Amino acid sequence: MTSLLSGKTALITGSTSGIGLEIARQLGRAGCGLMLNGIDAPAIVENAIADCRNTGAHKVFFSDANLADPMQTKRLVSDTFDHFDSIDILVNNAGVQHVAAIEEFSDENWDRIIEINLSAPFRLSRQVLPSMRENGWGRIINIASVHGLVASRHKSAYVAAKHGLVGLTKTVALETAAEAITCNALCPGFARTALMESQIAARAQAENISPEKSAELILQEKQPSKSFVEPADIGSMVTFLCSKASAQITGSAFTIDGGWTAQ
Ligand code: NAD
Repeated sequence: MTSLLSGKTALITGSTSGIGLEIARQLGRAGCGLMLNGIDAPAIVENAIADCRNTGAHKVFFSDANLADPMQTKRLVSDTFDHFDSIDILVNNAGVQHVAAIEEFSDENWDRIIEINLSAPFRLSRQVLPSMRENGWGRIINIASVHGLVASRHKSAYVAAKHGLVGLTKTVALETAAEAITCNALCPGFARTALMESQIAARAQAENISPEKSAELILQEKQPSKSFVEPADIGSMVTFLCSKASAQITGSAFTIDGGWTAQ
């Protein structure tokens, strides 16, 4: 049986853990060849590769390009073309967070977050579009956040980058609208990944409460469902946005947030 996306190649940034790994697993299951990326320790990378191979993906490769460095971002695309003839699906997923009041937010943290969360998706989109145009088909999916639509205190760089990513999504969508290429953003609420665990731990320490109590309070304040978003559900949405049924969906920002932005 031919799978939904068999023969397609997907480049997923930040796919050695968390949401990115789930997206890779689901695209692998749908038949894609996979280019994984991340800056985690070798054991974590090996696990991610094995995990994706277990989905039945016919080809799984990995690049350690650090998206904080524009030269390495450029290298990620050439690393992919070392193994594949085309890049059909680009998922800009890698992202980092830093929580601090604006007066205490360093230039270094600002620049790092803008580079990884916003500039790398811009650079990668610019670099892969010629291949998509040549093949007459493409999907760019940007993993933004509810913070691409609304703000929270102490997350200035993250909120600015994610709002920028939603804007970039709309622009790329308009520039490709007449072709069989779409560009959309997903805006998840809290999902319990490494990125979130550090925020749960910081609050637990600051308020001298257990991590579970901290997680409960964080959800209570923002996410009406009071449950974390499952990374697998974000992966399913990505797979849908690569399917035939999504051909006319472009320039959209979809919330998956347990009601956060409905308030
Ligand atoms: P995570 O920390 O679990 O995983 C991050 C991934 O990005 C890892 O594979 C890591 O190696 C990679 N990465 C980090 N810095 C990198 C760099 N400089 N170069 C290349 N790769 C790098 O995070 P996550 O929660 O899975 O987040 C994935 C995306 O989802 C991010 O863009 C994040 O902003 C977004 N998001 C997360 C949540 C949440 O609650 N977890 C909510 C909304 C949006």
